[in-house]
Amino acid sequence: MVRVSGRDLEGFARVLVGRDPVARRATLGDFLSASGEVLDRGILLYFPAPHSFTGEDVLELQGHGGPVVMGLLLKRCVEVGARLAEPGEFSQRAYLNDKLDLVQAEAIADLIEAETTAAARSAMRSLSGEFSREIHGLVDRLIELRMRVEAALDFPEEETGVLGDADVVQRLGGLRAEVAALLGRARAGSVLRSGMQVVLAGLPNVGKSSLLNRLAGEERAIVTEIAGTTRDLLRETIQIEGIPIHVIDTAGLRQSEDPVERIGVERAWLAIERADLVLQLVDARNGETDADRSIAASLPQQVERIVVANKCDLAGEVAGRSEREGHVWLSLSAKSGEGVALLHDELLRVAGWSGRGEDVVLARERHVQALTTAQGRLAEAEGRLGQVELCAEELRLAHEALSRITSEFTADDLLGEIFSRFCIGK
Ligand code: GDP
Repeated sequence: MVRVSGRDLEGFARVLVGRDPVARRATLGDFLSASGEVLDRGILLYFPAPHSFTGEDVLELQGHGGPVVMGLLLKRCVEVGARLAEPGEFSQRAYLNDKLDLVQAEAIADLIEAETTAAARSAMRSLSGEFSREIHGLVDRLIELRMRVEAALDFPEEETGVLGDADVVQRLGGLRAEVAALLGRARAGSVLRSGMQVVLAGLPNVGKSSLLNRLAGEERAIVTEIAGTTRDLLRETIQIEGIPIHVIDTAGLRQSEDPVERIGVERAWLAIERADLVLQLVDARNGETDADRSIAASLPQQVERIVVANKCDLAGEVAGRSEREGHVWLSLSAKSGEGVALLHDELLRVAGWSGRGEDVVLARERHVQALTTAQGRLAEAEGRLGQVELCAEELRLAHEALSRITSEFTADDLLGEIFSRFCIGK
């Protein structure tokens, strides 16, 4: 399909198909060259402004397909006066014409790029405006609160600021709790979007590959390469309940003379530094040995660690979860599958996914950041209830941060950045 958006497409259609287009009706027509030759015959759809996706006149030309014939049609459209769209330009125009807000525009790209069904469902919820409505709800309540606090500015004789105003205190507390809850859901959603980084560490033969296969196999997940990067042998992606989990196997991290391999190893170390979780496998028969401890010491200490005592079947132990020296300790058997469900649950817990379902928001990093800022500002405001000016200023900044999510106060360069990541034609 070739899609055209702009002004006066009626005249455009007249040149292209030799007659007036019919609004919102599929009609069969000949797509004509400059000399009147039929390039293709297909369906013409015309959506006059403002009732279209972009809010402008939109014309859709459905041909037989195939790169050559569609190329001819595209070329003809350019001859008649169109130009090729920039990536995301249709969505950008829809946004500029108030057909979508920024969150919904981003959701279109997320829907198209969704790698799991859970991600697609969540993107669709954002696209239908669920996330935006929640942000608007928070903003509305914040505006009411700001009005009350700003009003107090006009009565400076009040020594205690708004401290004594129970209504303000209660509203502020309620708002903080709601922002915190939304932030939790957005964080879970950002894991759904970009996945969780898990480092797999352990001595040879302790059962790392067996465990990975077991985790992947239980979900019948496809082991995929990481989208957007070249396949590198040190990383694999599995899915658990729709969450992409990128596993880096430290066994592959050896010293190497090969320059290409060295680049791979360096990248893996960068990923390890930013990992969400270290899964350290030990042999249940031996427990944590000195060799295991020295592997653990080479990994970043700030990252959460779970010790997996594998081969519990050989050790004659039953599978189970306990806590030792501040870490979760799981006994399981990758071979029999016993106890693997416990690991599964722990992974979902670390991902912030436990007990979550349909309410997850497929948030982007910028949404999470804005919510975090708003949360911080509200906390500051709460601490400054006795100083009305400062409290009012913190609330203003919280308002600004929240509004940035759906659009207001959004800088042009951010818009360019968001839309340039779309594919062409969307
Ligand atoms: P890796 O080198 O850490 O990746 O270890 P592998 O996954 O290749 O496993 C090494 C050997 O241990 C293989 O023969 C596996 O079949 C065996 N193995 C792995 N996990 C278990 C387990 O839970 N129980 C038993 N009995 N054998 C296991």
